[in-house]
Parts: sequence; structure tokens; C-alpha cells
Amino acid sequence: MRFANATLPDGSKHDIEVEGGRIAALLPVSATLADLDLGGALVLPPLVDGHIHLDKTLLGLPWVPNQATGNRVADRIEAERKVRAARTVPESQTGANLVRQVLASGTLHMRSHVDIDNQLGLRNLREILKVRERFSDLVTIEIVAFPQSGILRSPGTVDLLAAAMAEGADLVGGLDPVGIDGDLDGHLAPVFAIAERHRAGIDIHLHDGGEAGIAQIEAIAERTRAAGLQGKVAISHAFALGSVPPLLAARTADLLADTGVAIMSHGPGGATIPPLQLLREHGVRVFGGSDNVRDAWSPFGNGDMLERAMMIGYRANFRHDAELALAFDMVTKAAAEVLGIADYGFAPGGPADFVVVEAETLAEAIASRPRRKLVVKGGRIVARDGVLVLP
Ligand SMILES: [Zn+2]
Repeated sequence: MRFANATLPDGSKHDIEVEGGRIAALLPVSATLADLDLGGALVLPPLVDGHIHLDKTLLGLPWVPNQATGNRVADRIEAERKVRAARTVPESQTGANLVRQVLASGTLHMRSHVDIDNQLGLRNLREILKVRERFSDLVTIEIVAFPQSGILRSPGTVDLLAAAMAEGADLVGGLDPVGIDGDLDGHLAPVFAIAERHRAGIDIHLHDGGEAGIAQIEAIAERTRAAGLQGKVAISHAFALGSVPPLLAARTADLLADTGVAIMSHGPGGATIPPLQLLREHGVRVFGGSDNVRDAWSPFGNGDMLERAMMIGYRANFRHDAELALAFDMVTKAAAEVLGIADYGFAPGGPADFVVVEAETLAEAIASRPRRKLVVKGGRIVARDGVLVLP
């Protein structure tokens, strides 16, 4: 199959020859041989969502007003309990709604955190494992066993996290060791112990800001080194990096780079954003994700990673094309590297996975977030004009 007349992000124009689900060759433009003429549209690598919550979303259900009575993480945990108690539709159904929506927007790989606590047990995990199985031909779903209610303040969670890893979770999560559990080592010790036992990665939500947050980042980095888990640990949000003087942020960045700890940012609306350029300059892997999509935490979000790149750029005050390219890298190549997607990238010999949009350049695509003309997975068109074309 030949997709003719594609513009690549470097501005070059090619026909894309696809064979057996892979890109056989990039050829000179020759409209006469085309099976499908892309008309010079821009072809992008597949989008990657490095941080989503498939079990939390209420997508497809009647509108649920946000019920948090305060602005602290603990207030939102309580609000989510109320919303969950009133739920009648299983998480596998709403999670599938979200997977279909992100697939139509060009996301083919994602990392989903899944709530585990002593009230939920492994219920949400089992629901999202069903979603992963159902869409396994189309999207990669990595699962983080996420202790949303804390570890020490939800007794029994350590055993549940271990059980989750045995049942199919890929990484161990964590949440504000000091802000939520009030015990840095008491929280991190079991997280690292379980990860070491399973030779698994770790991805910790860290909202705690200021120097207290930096101290936790340092502790996570030092434990990563001690456990030999370099390259397998990420900290999500890390608001602290954006709330301390640049010199301290730079010193912390060197430690993160040295221990291979990656930083995820979704371009937060109500918190400080880590200094993305500074982190990159110091060699830290920085990647992006949606975080909450239409759930008890946030009414916003739609899972569109091109739009997410725009929001990251907006929050980071990016303006130049090179800066927008960094935002794009966070939702494509960098996220794929952190997730360990071996078969990723748009090149001859690689998988015929790509996204087609009406834009002249990458920067324009981020600024205008055009509807996805095509989403192609393994050479097969899975979405057209923003709508899934699969059963
Ligand atoms: Zn999150």
C-alpha cells in the first residue's frame, strides 16, 4: 500500500510504501502509483500519553460536578470516594470510552496509573486489565499500581501493590510520601522493595512543592541509584522543581540526570511547572501526559496529546518553533523512551504507525491542533477525520 505525497516534520516530501505493517520505504512523490493521496499533509509519529488515569475517567457518563470541598490533594481523594460510591458503570466501560477517544486522536501508547487502596483492592486494576486486553491490537497500555490513598494511611496497601504486580501491573506507583503519608522512608521503602523484587519500574506522583518536595526528589533519586533502577524510575508532576530558585533546580536536575530519573509534566493549570528547558539542558528525560480526563479530579482534558503539547507549551511560555518541538518530543519520542516502547519511530523498517494532519509544520500542528485526518496503525487506517473506523 502506498500513501502518497506526505510532508514529514523535516519538511521533506515522500510517498510512504507500507508492507506487512511496516514502512518498507520512503520514496519520491509519484501520485500515479498512489493508493491514497495525502495531498501534502503532515505525517507525524504516533502520539504517546505518558500519564493517564483510565480507571478514573467518567467519560461517556452524564456530567458529574466536581465535589472537592478544598484544594488539597487529600480533599480531592475524599471527593473521589463520593463520586466512586455513586458510580453504576464499571471502569472497564468508561476506560474503553477514553481509549477509543485517544486512539482517534492518534495516541498508540500510554501509561495508565490505576488506583489501589484498602477499599478498592484490585478491582480497578482488573477492570483496566480487561481494557488492555480488549485493545491490545491497537494500543500499548502500561499499568502503574497507584496507591491513591497513600500507603501508610491505607493499611494493607503494601500487600495489594505486590499482588497487583503479580496480576499484571507493570510499575509500582507512589504518592507524596511526606504530604500524604507523612513518612518519607515509610512510603518509599515498600515501593522500592516491590519494584526490586519484580525488576519493575516506578512512577511516583509528587505534588509536594518547595524544598520539602526537593528533598523527596533527592530521596527518590538516591534510592533509584541504590536499587540499580537507573532509567526505570519517573516522578510525575514534580511541582517542586518549578517552585525553588534555579540554582537548586539545576543541582537537583544533575542528580536526576545522573540517576536516570525522568520527569513527567502535563502543563498544570494550578501549580508550578518544572523548568522543562533547564531539565533538558542538564540531561534529564522529560515527558508529557494527560493526567486526569473528565473525572473527580478535573472536569477538563480530552486525551488529545497534540492539544496537551500546546498546553505544556502555553504553561512553559514557549513561543519559538524549537521550544514547540520540545513540547512535541515530550508527547512522542521522549515518552516512548520512558515507557520503553522498543518499536517506535517513523522510519523505513519501522512500524507503519503514523498520524496525518493538515498543517505545514510541527509547530503549526501544535498551535492549531487540527483534527486527525488519519491515524494509521500497522499500515491499517484505524481513524479518519477524528472518528474511529474500526468495529
Ligand atoms: Zn496522575
